[in-house]
Amino acid sequence: MTIKKKAPTRTQNTSNPRYLWAFGKLIPWEEANVHITSMAWASISAVFEGIRAYWNDKEKELSVFRLDAHIKRLSNSMKLMRMVPPLGENDIENAIAELLTSNKSRENIYIMPFAYFSGSVPGYKSAYQQPAALFITAVPTESKLESNLGISCCISSWTRISDNSMPPRVKGISNYQNSRLVSTEAELNGYDAGIILNSQGKVSESAYGCIFIIRDGVAYTPPTTADILESITRDTIITLLQEDLNIPVQVRDLDRTELYVSNEMFLCGTYAEIDPVISVDRYVIGNGNPGPITEKLMDIYKRLVYGESNLHHEWVSLIHIPD
Ligand code: PMP
Repeated sequence: MTIKKKAPTRTQNTSNPRYLWAFGKLIPWEEANVHITSMAWASISAVFEGIRAYWNDKEKELSVFRLDAHIKRLSNSMKLMRMVPPLGENDIENAIAELLTSNKSRENIYIMPFAYFSGSVPGYKSAYQQPAALFITAVPTESKLESNLGISCCISSWTRISDNSMPPRVKGISNYQNSRLVSTEAELNGYDAGIILNSQGKVSESAYGCIFIIRDGVAYTPPTTADILESITRDTIITLLQEDLNIPVQVRDLDRTELYVSNEMFLCGTYAEIDPVISVDRYVIGNGNPGPITEKLMDIYKRLVYGESNLHHEWVSLIHIPD
């Protein structure tokens, strides 16, 4: 059997960064070890964030995009899992800045704070009031905003996890079991990515990002009650479409057939950025290329995240990285 192109994977430099941040301090990358037996149950309730920082070579600055919103969501994920945060929100932001500066990171970076119950309480028992540990990694990661010809999607046969079982609002490591089943099925069937319907049969999201379609000049995206992660990029894009591109946005449930007849479609997420979709279940979207509104959005988004835009300064935290 031949398997077509793989779903997007994180591209990482072969050399590791000098430090990561763990348990209250910077630690050389190679020395950040935990005992093998603490891995399994400890990670079951782990929550994390994926944050991007973009390197602006002209200003010699890293522009961290929507840091406050990501740390707020991390707090909410910890709260929902009844995890006592080992650090306050400001301290986590300061730790990220310290890590980026100490690594002398002068390229695009993916930052991942990761919080977990560090005891070894089995996964079926309460871990309430067990100590929570936090580590943060920041690794070089390419942006796809330069060139992205679009991806093919299928509607997955798997159902999205739901708020009353595995709340997708929590950015929990275990939730990605659902994503992995979807992505593997998509790859085996020759698609780049899978779209997941929720238990109501409405469009939820993809394995790694939220969904927008454009139809007759109006943008549509499923609501946060459609079993999606409360995506920060989705929020950014709603604002950019309405305020900067004058495109009306309707947040409502979507049927799968609305995707098939849309003029444009894209997935979005911090890592995914803006991923144009050119077909769903082999129905061609628009003319089979990234649509004009999607391309405009990618252009605005790119200038914004690199800290080169006059718009929405409040979303960008600049960190100067001295030589
Ligand atoms: N949905 C899922 C399942 C995701 O993994 C992600 C990526 N974090 C998103 C949506 C997009 O969220 P954000 O824009 O906050 O990165």
